[in-house]
Amino acid sequence: MAFDYDLFVIGGGSGGVRAARVAAQETGVKVALAEEDRYGGTCVIRGCVPKKLMVFASGYGAMAQDARAYGWDVTENGFDWSAFQKKMHAELDRLEGIYRSLLKNAGVETFDSRARIADPHTVELADGTRKTAKHILIAVGGRPVKPDMTGAEHAITSNGIFDLKELPKSMLIVGGGYIASEFAGVMNGMGVATTQFYRGAQILRGFDDEARNFVAEEMVARGVDLQRETNITELRREGAGVWTKDTNGIEKVYDQVMFATGRCPNSDNLGLEEVGVALGRKGEIIVDEYSQTAVPSIYAVGDVTDRANLTPVAIREGMAFVETVFEGNPTKSDHDLIPTAIFTQPEMGTVGMSEEEAKAQGPIEVYKTSFKPMQQGFAGRGERVFMKLIISQENRKVLGCHIVAPGAGEMIQLAGIAVKMGATKEDFDRTCAVHPTMSEELVTLKTPVRTG
Ligand code: NDP
Repeated sequence: MAFDYDLFVIGGGSGGVRAARVAAQETGVKVALAEEDRYGGTCVIRGCVPKKLMVFASGYGAMAQDARAYGWDVTENGFDWSAFQKKMHAELDRLEGIYRSLLKNAGVETFDSRARIADPHTVELADGTRKTAKHILIAVGGRPVKPDMTGAEHAITSNGIFDLKELPKSMLIVGGGYIASEFAGVMNGMGVATTQFYRGAQILRGFDDEARNFVAEEMVARGVDLQRETNITELRREGAGVWTKDTNGIEKVYDQVMFATGRCPNSDNLGLEEVGVALGRKGEIIVDEYSQTAVPSIYAVGDVTDRANLTPVAIREGMAFVETVFEGNPTKSDHDLIPTAIFTQPEMGTVGMSEEEAKAQGPIEVYKTSFKPMQQGFAGRGERVFMKLIISQENRKVLGCHIVAPGAGEMIQLAGIAVKMGATKEDFDRTCAVHPTMSEELVTLKTPVRTG
C-alpha cells in the first residue's frame, strides 16, 4: 500500500521537530508534521527558554549591588517587567521562526492544525482531511495540572506566568518541584514578595537530601517565604487579588497565585485508545525501550510518555526513533545518568544517585564541601556553595555528583561526562585543579565526611 508519507509526526516541540527534521534530512524519507499551537513546544514557548530568560532577568538586581561592591558607580532604579516581557516574547517569536524554517529547509511538510489518529496508519486533521503514513510519531508533550479545588480558576500555572500583564507585588506559588522552586527564585529576584507552599517536609523531593536542604535554606536567606508542611485549602477572587486560606488556617490575599503542582501528558482526544495504544495511569503513552507503542506503526517520544520529562531527553528519544525506524539500527533511548540543572537561586546541578539512593544499593563514601565563593564573598554576600560526591566503596566509581552554586548547570554538564564514563574518585583526584574556580573543589576533596 502506498502511503502519503513515510512519517507523520504529531506535535512540533523539541522531540517531534528533531525527529521530523532528522528523518527528512538525513534519511531522505517523506515527512509531515502537525502542530496545533506554536512551533517549539513547551521548551521554547512556555518552558525552559522563557524561564531561563526570567532567571537571568531576576539576577540583575543582586548583580547591580555586587557591581557597587566592586567599585562601579551603578544606580539601580527597579525592574521594568513590560520592557523585559516585550523583548522576551520577541525572542520567542524569533525562535519559533527558526523552528519553522528548520522544518521547511529539511523538506518537512507542516500543517498548522490539531491532528488525531484515525487508524494505525491514518492521521486526521482538524478540518477532516486524512493523511496516511507508514509510521506515526506522537510527540504532543504535556501540560500543567491544577489541583481539583474550588476557585482553582483564579490561579495561574506556568503557562500564564510569561503573559502576566504586570508584575505582581505579592505572589503565592504552590508546589515544591522544579517549576515551583525555580519561579519562587525568579519572582523573588524580580522584587515580588514571594511565598512558596510545599505540602511535604522539604522541596525538590527525590533529589539528594543535603543538596535540597541547602537550596531551600539559601532560598529562604535570599527572601523567599518558604512554608513547608503547608498547602492551600481555599481560594477565591478578592478585588484585583486572590484570597487564600492555608492548612494552618491563615488567610491572606496575594496579587497572583500560581499552581506548580505537576504536569500531565497531552494524550486526551487523540484517538489513541480507540486504535489500541496503551495508556498508563496518568494518561502517559506506554512505550518500549525503542519508543514503540502497543500499535507497531505508532511511536511516541517526549513528555507524553512521561519517562524523564526533559527537553534533551525528548530530543534523544526522537533521534533514537529515527535511527531505529529509518536507519535500520535498533537504538534504545538511554535514560541512565541524565545530568540535570534546577534553575533555582541558588542553582543546582546534579547527576547520578542521591546519597539516600546510593546507600540503599551498597557501601559508599561521601565527600563534600561548602564554602563562600570568592566573587560573592568579596561583594559582602553571605551566600555559600555546596559540592558533594558519592563514591562506591566497592568499585570507587562516582555514583552521584551534586552541586549548588552559581553556574552549577554548566558545571554538571561536564562532570556528567566523567560520571557517564564511569570515572572513579581517583580519576577526579588525578585531574589537575583549575584555579581559582569554584569547581576545582570537586577534584580536591580529600577526606570522606562519612562512610556507610
Ligand atoms: P513536579 O512533579 O516536579 O512537582 C510537583 C510538585 O507539586 C511536587 O512538589 C508535589 O508535591 C506538588 N504537588 C502535587 N500535587 C499537589 C497538590 N494537590 N497540592 C499541593 N502540592 C502538590 O512538577 P513540576 O510541575 O515542578 O515539573 C514538571 C516536570 O517538568 C519536572 O518533573 C521536570 O521533569 C520538568 N522540568 C524540568 C526543568 C529543568 O530541567 N530545569 C524545569 C521545569 C520543569 P510532592 O513532592 O509531595 O509530590
